[in-house]
Amino acid sequence: MQTTHCQWCDQSIYLGQNPYQIFFGHDVLCPKCRSLLKPVYASFQLEGCSGLTIYEYDQTIQDMLYQYKTMQDITLAPAFLPVSLLKLKLYIARRPLLMAPSSLNVMKERGFHTLDRMVKPLHPQILHPFYRLDQSQQKQRTYIQRQSIEIHIKPFQTISKKVILFDDVCITGSTLIACIHALKTIGITDIRILVLAKHLKHMVKP
Ligand SMILES: [Zn+2]
Repeated sequence: MQTTHCQWCDQSIYLGQNPYQIFFGHDVLCPKCRSLLKPVYASFQLEGCSGLTIYEYDQTIQDMLYQYKTMQDITLAPAFLPVSLLKLKLYIARRPLLMAPSSLNVMKERGFHTLDRMVKPLHPQILHPFYRLDQSQQKQRTYIQRQSIEIHIKPFQTISKKVILFDDVCITGSTLIACIHALKTIGITDIRILVLAKHLKHMVKP
């Protein structure tokens, strides 16, 4: 569905667009808001796996994610990927996208998979093999056990042993590291990481 107003600033989406963009564009952001989201495509290493972040984790992305995930502003979903998907398609290379786990309770409240909606324009194969313990199971764990992030994995069907691990933000990396450990327990070691946003310090810009 073509929208007429920017999903972030609510201005007319056609402001500042040339006729070509108006005719062919499907962006849900106006050009001004789109320019706030500049892809950096910076690579990083985590637990021996190569990773790629699309954006630097800055105030804009933080605010947009808050509006999308916490305020459940689902219309923002198509805004997160860059307009050109070529680089991401090359990086994903038809590997299935394994979505990092979010708490089941949060998901039930929201009623939608926030990560799945974000990556929809890439038409990927999406899998949800990871899960966390629910709250009653958490209570049976010791204090020390509860401090460590424990992520479990259920067997999943995929033709490829090569996978992409996807999450929206990588701050400490602890969730992704726990996912990598879980994947290795079932023999999957060819893992690439893709995140929407990450702090850029200690990272190699291409
Ligand atoms: Zn705007």
